[in-house]
Amino acid sequence: MKKSNKQRRAEIKARRLQRAAASAVRLRAPDVRLPQPDCAFALGCEPADQFVLQQYNNTCGMLPRCYVARPFTCRDCGAEELWTAKQQKWWYEVAHGHIDSCAVRCLACRRARRERLRNAAPGANLLGEQTDRLRALGATKPDARAVAEVDAALESKWWSLRVVAIQTMAQWGGEANLAKLHELMAARPEGGRRYFGWERVAADAARSALLNRERWP
Ligand SMILES: [Zn+2]
Repeated sequence: MKKSNKQRRAEIKARRLQRAAASAVRLRAPDVRLPQPDCAFALGCEPADQFVLQQYNNTCGMLPRCYVARPFTCRDCGAEELWTAKQQKWWYEVAHGHIDSCAVRCLACRRARRERLRNAAPGANLLGEQTDRLRALGATKPDARAVAEVDAALESKWWSLRVVAIQTMAQWGGEANLAKLHELMAARPEGGRRYFGWERVAADAARSALLNRERWP
């Protein structure tokens, strides 16, 4: 049946309203890729590693130069939360989260959701399970199997898992492990802003893992 003019006008109006609502939401959520003019004065500005971002984001759009803390409302409980610059750097550069993704849930709701998913579909969250297992190993005395697991994790395609392996080695301690951590720290690329990559991430992870050891021997 042919639509009446009145019907057509109503449809156009509905579509416009929808678009306006969507653009209002976009305006409220600052785009991480846009240059942040006041970043020097912003809360905890962290420089971005564009080399890493380019490797793991197949976007032809802009990549961020730095991260600044961004407020957000938790999707599940409605709490007002802050996504810190450091957390963003970890998400995009170590966990390789897509550049269009951003924080939507507070820590408590994230944990609750992970637990629900784990119970609903065991084995579906391979990375999460490997991470938990590796973390648990840190509290035990290392045997051959545990050492092999950490060695394998250090080669994982997931950088976040490699970082947990570094933390586990620091928890274990021992001459060989500590020497390896100092080696990673010493291999941090100097100065130049172009290339950092995994070596930078590994060196920083080793450094904070060693500092934590000193703090809680
Ligand atoms: Zn929440």
